[in-house]
Amino acid sequence: MNLLTVGSVAFDAIETPFGKTDKIVGGAGTFIALSSSFFVESQGIVSVVGEDFPTETLDYMNQKGIDTTGIQIKEGEKTFFWSGKYHNDMNSRDTLVTELNVLGTFDPIVPPSFQGVDYLMLGNLSPDVQRTVIERLETRPKLIAMDTMNFWMDIAMDELRKTMQLVDVLIINDEEARQLSKEYSLVKAAKVIREMGPKILIIKKGEHGALLFHGDNIFFAPALPLEEVFDPTGAGDTFAGGFMGYIAATDDYSFENMKRAIIAGSALASFCVEKFGTQRLAEINKQDLNLRINEFVKLTNFEMNLA
Ligand code: AMP
Repeated sequence: MNLLTVGSVAFDAIETPFGKTDKIVGGAGTFIALSSSFFVESQGIVSVVGEDFPTETLDYMNQKGIDTTGIQIKEGEKTFFWSGKYHNDMNSRDTLVTELNVLGTFDPIVPPSFQGVDYLMLGNLSPDVQRTVIERLETRPKLIAMDTMNFWMDIAMDELRKTMQLVDVLIINDEEARQLSKEYSLVKAAKVIREMGPKILIIKKGEHGALLFHGDNIFFAPALPLEEVFDPTGAGDTFAGGFMGYIAATDDYSFENMKRAIIAGSALASFCVEKFGTQRLAEINKQDLNLRINEFVKLTNFEMNLA
């Protein structure tokens, strides 16, 4: 096992201009692990659910090479529940409900068989839980990536600062980068954020792609222009999962390989938004993914004679 993910495994209820779901399986950790399973054959996840969580989903994760022994099942308790409603532009959403339930008292336990992992992906969770996992690993992974959100910047900025000092890669969206740095220009924001700890920064810009800041290099990857975006929930986590899955599978975190990892993450995210929740990720296979990666190559490839 060379990849470990920590993140929420949840129930989501989603409303978009195209439809509405009852409680379906979601959670940052779920999207990350399912996405990275396209690249890594075996991986671990650390999370917590209540007794209401379907065992079929855990079985399905196991089939995908995801070791779920690090998911605690709390008897008599309920799984984390999140509900959101998208605006007509699909770029913004309102959180309608956040019921922390088992996440409220989550003490992440890393099974002994997960020790020695090379790559760690900290999905969006409270920064102190993220830091606890780093501290509970006996050897430091080769690369630690972390996602976070404005929610933690609002209520736990000191904790977030401490955790950011321990990670190598931070993956956030443009709005979060601006809030974190208090800079509007993303280039200036990247400078401020990288002084806070993570030497490598990825800023996601939704339908406008993603930027990678690595050393003195900057790389930009577009998002695939899709005719329809049905449900963007989990797209950011799916991107992060594809990115870290690709890095872990290739065991290479150079700038050149991170560019490829960003395309891998972007391709998987482009599938995620086509249906509700994890549905589309469950339908596609490696061939579908490869075809889409090729679409990215075509989208960005051009030849030109110099002036
Ligand atoms: P994204 O669309 O990438 O922001 O991720 C959405 C997922 O994050 C949903 O499946 C939610 O269950 C999960 N989520 C939302 N809020 C939180 C939170 N405060 N902590 C952990 N996971 C969350």
